[in-house]
Amino acid sequence: MAAKNNENLITLNSPITDVKGIGPKKAENIYRLGIKTLGDSLDLYPRSYEDLRNVKEIFDIQNEEKCLVRGVVTRTSFGKGFGRKRTLHVTVEDKTGRMDVIFFMAGFMKFDQGEVYNFYGRCKVEGGRTTMFHPTHSKYEGEEGGILPVYPLTRGVTQKDLRKLTKEALNHVDEIEETLPLDVVAESKLCSNVYAISNIHFPEDDEKYMAARYRLVYEELFDLKAALAISKSKGRDEKFGHSFDGNYALDFVNNLSYKLTSAQTRVLNDVLVDMKKDVPMNRLIQGDVGSGKTIIAEAAIVQAIGNGYQAAFMAPTEILAFQHYETLKKDFDKLGINVDIITGSMPAKDRRVSLEKLASGETQVAIGTHALISESVEYKKLGLVITDEQHRFGVSQRRSLTSKGENPDVIVMTATPIPRTLAAVLYADLDISIIDEMPPGRIPIITKEFNSKTRKDAYDLAISQVEEGRQVYIVAPLIEESDSIEGESAEELYEKFCKKYKNVKAALLHGQMTQSEKDDVMKRFYSGEISVLISTVVIEVGINVPNATVMLIENQERFGLAQLHQLRGRVGRGKFQSYCLIVTGDDSELARQRAKIMCSSSDGFVIAEKDLEMRGPGEIFGYRQHGLPQLKFADPIKHVKIADEAGRAVLNMLSKDPDLTSQKNSAFAKKLRAKYLELENITL
Ligand code: ADP
Ligand code: MG
Repeated sequence: MAAKNNENLITLNSPITDVKGIGPKKAENIYRLGIKTLGDSLDLYPRSYEDLRNVKEIFDIQNEEKCLVRGVVTRTSFGKGFGRKRTLHVTVEDKTGRMDVIFFMAGFMKFDQGEVYNFYGRCKVEGGRTTMFHPTHSKYEGEEGGILPVYPLTRGVTQKDLRKLTKEALNHVDEIEETLPLDVVAESKLCSNVYAISNIHFPEDDEKYMAARYRLVYEELFDLKAALAISKSKGRDEKFGHSFDGNYALDFVNNLSYKLTSAQTRVLNDVLVDMKKDVPMNRLIQGDVGSGKTIIAEAAIVQAIGNGYQAAFMAPTEILAFQHYETLKKDFDKLGINVDIITGSMPAKDRRVSLEKLASGETQVAIGTHALISESVEYKKLGLVITDEQHRFGVSQRRSLTSKGENPDVIVMTATPIPRTLAAVLYADLDISIIDEMPPGRIPIITKEFNSKTRKDAYDLAISQVEEGRQVYIVAPLIEESDSIEGESAEELYEKFCKKYKNVKAALLHGQMTQSEKDDVMKRFYSGEISVLISTVVIEVGINVPNATVMLIENQERFGLAQLHQLRGRVGRGKFQSYCLIVTGDDSELARQRAKIMCSSSDGFVIAEKDLEMRGPGEIFGYRQHGLPQLKFADPIKHVKIADEAGRAVLNMLSKDPDLTSQKNSAFAKKLRAKYLELENITL
């Protein structure tokens, strides 16, 4: 009787151990998936589905068909290789025939012989032989037909466990409130969230699944846009009370030895319009490497200082901070502007002196790393904050620096070319200016492709440059443990290189080194003491060594296009002809295609678009890296139209209820707060 009662009392908030058949041991394993309550199970979305509506008989399978086969495993054997890298061959039979199932990297996979399994995947039929490659699969446990979810698993948890749990949870789905405002659901013709949740787990048919998916994509984009819009309007609410007037910046650029490009002029104008307003600027300046962002930053600084304010210029690493320091000092000394650098590694005494000068206002421009925003740093009158390569700064750090001033203007600079469509989603809280033109007179970089046979030619070219007094970067991809692809690790390469070229001064740079070790190597390369820098991709974005003329990239197929382009941007920064030598290790179609794009284009935006086409956005712009949540359903590129529609609905909602205080938006507001509370760059 008691047990029965208990069952009746189950809600989505019940611990999973209250579900019949889930004991404490099983529960421990399920916790690892982030599922503690019954309701949590609904947040773990299927990674794919098994369509059990149509079981295909092996005899009837057509070449290239994707289908479900249910059969007995009669034999398993491993192919050559070691450990997890081994290939697994499974023989499966049903009453009409036999097929081979092949799994790659399957060293730890197990099938019980004599048991019946479902396999769902693409088949090849050749010479009467049927082979299925790397299918999704599960033990057949007498489940009914339909479309079944396939969840990501963890040790000790089966599909059956999770299916049972979600099935049970779906019995209580009526407890879940609608999480979008009802008028939005109606106007955008969305299905309800209960409908969406039910059909994303156990789709009744294709149509219902599509409706569920559409709603989930829409909701993700709606939530994100709403959070960003609210965050943006909050930022704008606070009045600065001052505006940076006058012609300081324009006088400064008119006295340069060169003319700004028209793109620079346009962007500087955007900046100055913002600076003259009495609301804080929050602007992203995007421009390919070498497009001349620094001078725009300098002009903005001059404008702020002319109005009696201080400026802070933040770089992601000490070496980049030093680089900016040297540039700015050279340009500002003659104007009588006091520039100082403040870093974490400077001697305590020097640091104290620097901090005093900053607090007294003697220092007008402070350059540094995140040390600039540590507790102990005080400003007299901070009016402008510039961060370089912000995608490597936590946005919360930017906020914290902002809070030190009287709500200063903020400029964020990045060389990462982000297509507009994506930028509109990723940086919805910033205004965007793009420098899409290079200063005249650049010697174009020569890009050449090599393969394992011609690799030596690439090294010959690099060494001949060293002999002429130039410097060289060599970049090798990391080797991951689980990887069977051959790749030259930087360390190995370094050892081989030193043995072969005994007279060349080389150094190694990799990710496991501490920041100060890295800075030390970079300083030595910067000073010219080192001729060849061999590294994994830790070479700092934005590093400027004009004497470096060769970027040699090993196993280029292991890098993304955008990454290759960034690497190439490290050379061609001085008055010498520069080279980007890309060595292709594996001769795949994709690798060749990439090499072709690299050799034919030097435009970061073109390359970024191609990269998107080839790889999809998630991989390139890790959303986490941007301080944004992982999107589970939405793809800001594929779903631009939905994003636009959601954006319009957001604005419409906020125009009527800017603080989301109305009763009809309360469930939505509650969800939004819970969802974005931890998100560092959004305060609701
Ligand atoms: P990035 O955008 O990569 O930060 P920089 O600001 O470092 O580029 O500029 C690269 C180089 O181009 C610098 O040496 C700078 O002095 C020079 N430069 C910038 N703008 C112009 C211009 N309009 N004409 C000529 N040279 C320029
Ligand atoms: Mg720069």
